Amino acid sequence: MDHTHRGTALITGASSGIGAIYADRLARRGYDLILVARNRDKLNALASRITDETHREVEVLDADLNDRQSLAAVEHKLRQDASITLLVNNAGVGTHTPLLDSDVEQMTQMIELNVTALTRLTYAAVPGFVARGKGTIINISSITSIAPEVLNGVYGASKAFVLAFSQSLHHELAGKGIRVQAVLPGATATDFWALGGLPVEHLDPAIVMPATDMVDAALAGLDQGELITIPSLHAIETWQVYEDARRAMSGQLSRNVPAPRYATAR
Ligand code: NAP
Repeated sequence: MDHTHRGTALITGASSGIGAIYADRLARRGYDLILVARNRDKLNALASRITDETHREVEVLDADLNDRQSLAAVEHKLRQDASITLLVNNAGVGTHTPLLDSDVEQMTQMIELNVTALTRLTYAAVPGFVARGKGTIINISSITSIAPEVLNGVYGASKAFVLAFSQSLHHELAGKGIRVQAVLPGATATDFWALGGLPVEHLDPAIVMPATDMVDAALAGLDQGELITIPSLHAIETWQVYEDARRAMSGQLSRNVPAPRYATAR
């Protein structure tokens, strides 16, 4: 148990799964907590267990991040509470269904939570972090951000937004003392799967990681200063090749003439 006081961590989606493990681990690392999700009973139970075990301050903020008024209350908290040094944008939903079997209203709700709420909470936190010259943002993306064919396409695209947004945040804010980390979990054993219509027991156990191991690995990646952490990727050099190719290409992506392969017969 670390008794250094590291400020307060605000964690969204803290009532279960990955978010609840972050709450436990961050309290043990010396953070006070603000736990955000819809299920107040689960948040209260987690808060009292963590307070008993770690003696950290734990505040519960029940909020439906799909509801603009509730979301605004969390944004307000991030703007006015200068003790907040860490934002964990973890709340999210997903599914495996293809486009033809998916309801566009549900897809829109997913974008509102996975993309819009995460964006608004980041916009609320960053100015204070910059003014105080320190702050950390952990954004929970997914391996589907780079493998969008794996699950539902809107889910993968929402997580690709989280990855690209994190890369841009790092680019803009690293020089201002702000740490950014995007975490790309593979399949992780949480309620996420059952809620999305495919219980985790239906997956090959060889691809499913316990949530505790995933979060501990992600925090090790944070400690190592990583911008992108992919806990299940053993061959990290494959990511490096991918990232190097992206960076090498980026200087060639804007030109005043089309590539010769698009020359048309006039
Ligand atoms: P989970 O156990 O279902 O947790 C999701 C959390 O989000 C819960 O605490 C839930 O709490 C909260 N939440 C859902 N809708 C919300 C809303 N409208 N407003 C506020 N909070 C809401 O699933 P998980 O696996 O831990 O998911 C956490 C993150 O990991 C998600 O962003 C997910 O996309 C990502 N991820 C998961 C996996 C995986 O295989 N499990 C893989 C890659 C990425 P309430 O129901 O109490 O609101």
